[in-house]
Amino acid sequence: MSERTKTDQTPRLREMGPAPRLLDGLDNVNLPSLQVDPLLILDMDETLVYATTREIPHLNVLTRFEEYTVYERPHLSEFIASVREQYRVAIWTAAGRDYAQAVIESVFQNPSQDLDFFWTSERCTTKWDYDSGEFYNRKNLGKVRRSGEDLRQVLIVEDTPKNVADHYGNAIYISPFEGQENDRELLKLAAFLGQFRQEGHEDFRRIEKRWWSE
Ligand SMILES: [Mg+2]
Repeated sequence: MSERTKTDQTPRLREMGPAPRLLDGLDNVNLPSLQVDPLLILDMDETLVYATTREIPHLNVLTRFEEYTVYERPHLSEFIASVREQYRVAIWTAAGRDYAQAVIESVFQNPSQDLDFFWTSERCTTKWDYDSGEFYNRKNLGKVRRSGEDLRQVLIVEDTPKNVADHYGNAIYISPFEGQENDRELLKLAAFLGQFRQEGHEDFRRIEKRWWSE
């Protein structure tokens, strides 16, 4: 389903904001020397999961929400385990909170400990898309910076490039998952992110990442 169709209801649980950081307000500190793991922000729908009213027999069901079945992208648990060894992990979805909460609780054993933050549509900025004639939710990484992160050490994984158009230097685009059989993108991405971390880049934004999956 499209992210716009998901309902945005009153939060059931508290929103997990970012934890206070050692580096609040200090944008020019050389982070790698302070040994703070980089931050990896993950989109949710069509990146980690696929929610649909269709039955897809070959996929694992994570949870159900209203009329939707939420399917796991293949290799999701291996991906999460792998990236958590080298990155702090956060989720930022343009979906509504009740739906996102249900999905996240089925992916992570203890979301409030496992995730640096969990942001939903309330943190997005609504923009008008002149091409499609529709509103969409953009993710402004300025909000991440204002929470104390150094954007040189932040990556955001997205299947919808326009959602992070203001911060393409931080973005890693992944092909949208819509139930394809034998999808291996998360395995490939885990390998890329592991290698990328080992390379020890001071400013992720300066490194070409568009062809990571080729
Ligand atoms: Mg998405």
